[in-house]
Amino acid sequence: MKTRSQTPDVARLVRGVRAGERSLLARAITLIESKRPDHHKAARQLVQDLLPATGRAVRVGITGAPGVGKSTTIDTLGSYLTGQGRKVAVLAVDPSSARTGGSILADKTRMARLAADDNAFIRPSPAAGTLGGVAAKTRETMLVCEAAGYDAILVETVGIGQSETAVADMTDFFLALMLPGAGDEIQGLKKGLVELADMIAVNKADGDNVARAKAAAAEYRAALHILSPRSPSWTPPVVTYSALTGDGVAGLWAQVLAHRDKLTASGELEARRRVQQVKWMWTMLEDFFRGRLAADAKLKAKLPQIEAAVAAGELSPARAVDQIVAAMGL
Ligand code: GDP
Repeated sequence: MKTRSQTPDVARLVRGVRAGERSLLARAITLIESKRPDHHKAARQLVQDLLPATGRAVRVGITGAPGVGKSTTIDTLGSYLTGQGRKVAVLAVDPSSARTGGSILADKTRMARLAADDNAFIRPSPAAGTLGGVAAKTRETMLVCEAAGYDAILVETVGIGQSETAVADMTDFFLALMLPGAGDEIQGLKKGLVELADMIAVNKADGDNVARAKAAAAEYRAALHILSPRSPSWTPPVVTYSALTGDGVAGLWAQVLAHRDKLTASGELEARRRVQQVKWMWTMLEDFFRGRLAADAKLKAKLPQIEAAVAAGELSPARAVDQIVAAMGL
């Protein structure tokens, strides 16, 4: 009975989200993040019903090592954007998250100005889980925020390879933040990251750091020069800015918009989003099967044995797959 009384009223949530009601938006996201199997169907319905109202936002992924100034940047950039009349949603993908669940407060202190801004909505990473699961939930949350009228979505990721790819796969523009300082810093420019980045922005270009930031930017520019860019119509720029003073933040956003204009004109933006949607489907499918494996107690008990037999070379991986699939009843 209790379960039934808690069955979510999807139609009401859809109306509330579309009307931009924050409390219903928060509730809709909680439904998406719910691990209760009886909530899954409602969550799917919710996203499906909201889909026509999505897609118009500028989606920006932001990465960078701890301490580079991600929170400060999101706070400053987000406030700049609300000042321009935009509604800003801040999301995160952090599968390892130590700051999940009840950590909204932590995120709100990290971004104090934005947290107090009526035109901003901050939501921490969904609770720890598989990267695929966490990313899928963040992506659905992004869609729900768009349906609620948020037209700038900032998705933060901790600077770890797989999470970065997941965020790049759900955004239009991927921004890599770097620290000033020449020489060694350039080594922080991981090859994988360069393939994802649509722009490199060197933060903390203020006070004594300005010259060092400019020198670092020149090095990044030279390094990018020898690598092939992600898009034929966009060469990733390297800019310097200060999240602390706000210097350069308008210029940073101008690049995001320039990128959007160019890729819209060339049709690449639409193509990128199509590819992302299909990729998203596959990720969810893989996660579904992984979940099914984990949910099947009998099979789960057998898996270590099968794995050991494969490791020992007694069972071929292909035969092992046959056995597992058969045990799943497929
Ligand atoms: P995060 O770990 O990437 O989220 O980094 P934070 O935003 O928490 O910033 C780390 C530290 O760098 C904090 O002490 C910030 O005050 C400082 N910081 C961030 N942006 C700037 C900046 O533009 N200039 C200077 N001088 N310090 C900054």
